Amino acid sequence: MAFKPEDFMGGGPEELVHSTRLSPNFNERALPITMAVLHYTEMKPVETALDRLTDPEAGVSAHYLITEEGEVIRLVPEERRAWHAGKSFWRGIKDVNSASVGIELDHPGHELGYREFAKAQIDALIPLLGRIVKQYDIPRANVVAHSDVAPFRKIDPGELFPWDRLAEYGLCLPKPEKLELGDPFQTDGAFMLALERYGYDITDAPKAVEAFQRRWRPELIDGQVDQQVGAILFQLLLDRDRGVAR
Ligand SMILES: [Zn+2]
Repeated sequence: MAFKPEDFMGGGPEELVHSTRLSPNFNERALPITMAVLHYTEMKPVETALDRLTDPEAGVSAHYLITEEGEVIRLVPEERRAWHAGKSFWRGIKDVNSASVGIELDHPGHELGYREFAKAQIDALIPLLGRIVKQYDIPRANVVAHSDVAPFRKIDPGELFPWDRLAEYGLCLPKPEKLELGDPFQTDGAFMLALERYGYDITDAPKAVEAFQRRWRPELIDGQVDQQVGAILFQLLLDRDRGVAR
């Protein structure tokens, strides 16, 4: 039984923000909130990440950081524009920072030893994200990885991020179950146009395909268009067009 975001507004798992450590790195939003972007910090220990995310010289931040123990730390008020996405693009939006809530997950990343995300961390993320998705009516297709919005520069949170657990709670699109047989896109060019329609910046085609694979078919990330990724993309677009998902 999948949960609905409504479940997080009373009666559902309780959202907790354990502490606040305000970052000076924010400004005013130029767009309404329509997205959530998930990151890993790629820094250890967590103090190093917190120092950087609150350092005026570094010029980076996020709205929240969640430790591996499940402590939720607020860094920037949601009504302000945090600086987490950098040069990014999603579904026509170029100023992703203005349109999104950014959540950093304390994690060593690919640089310092890539590993599964801690259960306590994801347990804390789910109610926080649930409240955010509900409050701003964020389309599920707009709960994305940093790698989705910056495929040429970023690979976080990476192929071990448990999207399935978020999907159980209706907090991101689930992996399509029934895939059309055959090859829905006749050519790589047709696939790329569909990938752009789904939301990606396809300027660097192999990197865009890698980002899609990292999110939807993490078993093989090679930047090559194949029948399976074609079938997944086709079904995602079909579900969105039919209003099954958005
Ligand atoms: Zn990131």
